[in-house]
Amino acid sequence: MDFLGSVVFLCLFSIAFCHESMEMDLDPDLLPRPLVIEFSESRLKNLTDDIVMQCTSWRVAVEANNLGPWKTIPHECADYVKDYMLGRSYNVDLEKVSKESENYAKSLELGGDGMDAWVFDIDETLISNLPYYSDHGYGLEVFNNVQFDKWIHEGVAPAIKPSFKLYEEVLRLGYKIILLTGRNEDKRNVTVTNLTHAGYQKWDKLILRGENDHEKSASVFKSEKRKEITEEGFRIVGNSGDQWSDLAGTTTASRSFKLSNPMYHIP
Ligand SMILES: [Mg+2]
Repeated sequence: MDFLGSVVFLCLFSIAFCHESMEMDLDPDLLPRPLVIEFSESRLKNLTDDIVMQCTSWRVAVEANNLGPWKTIPHECADYVKDYMLGRSYNVDLEKVSKESENYAKSLELGGDGMDAWVFDIDETLISNLPYYSDHGYGLEVFNNVQFDKWIHEGVAPAIKPSFKLYEEVLRLGYKIILLTGRNEDKRNVTVTNLTHAGYQKWDKLILRGENDHEKSASVFKSEKRKEITEEGFRIVGNSGDQWSDLAGTTTASRSFKLSNPMYHIP
């Protein structure tokens, strides 16, 4: 670099440094921030960057409904899913969905005839079976309906707080609340007890699988029930569920909101 080049370089360096210093003086938000967020309790530190990236990619594919039917989470993602469910990420994702749903519910003008309805799924939407799944590998084990039914009959699944907030807001706004679940009719009493203990005190309909619904996929069953609901005159303006089979199919809601759930897939 010749003399003139050196002078130009030093001038530019001084201007840049001076400019940055001025900004830092004026705006403390521009102070350097850590580039790495520290999760001291995270299990991800035991995973390679590639595994974390592959498992994140898999989880995004789950949420975007891009995967075919699957029975268990990938074995290499066991720690990743556990970390996601127990760390802050799961709750932050649920809070985001709840807030967006609430904004949408508030933005609508209700018909005034009491027929605007919001449909909620129950499991992993209003109440959480995470205590059960924490004993069963967070989706690593093949689903065992006998063991799961035992857990259901305890009736102690806690409320999912962001969903409870949405439920209260939707109720306050005057929507009819319709609970549509893949649980069988023989679990009606324990479901009501569980929901009540979790804080859900009021709804207009609770629809479970009847005798003729056992062989149907969740998607077909729920589509049929939504059709019946609309034939009664309800307008399904919102639908919240943790499975695409809660939301997709036919007679869908005006808007559907997918809650995160990387632990299992129900077609
Ligand atoms: Mg569910």
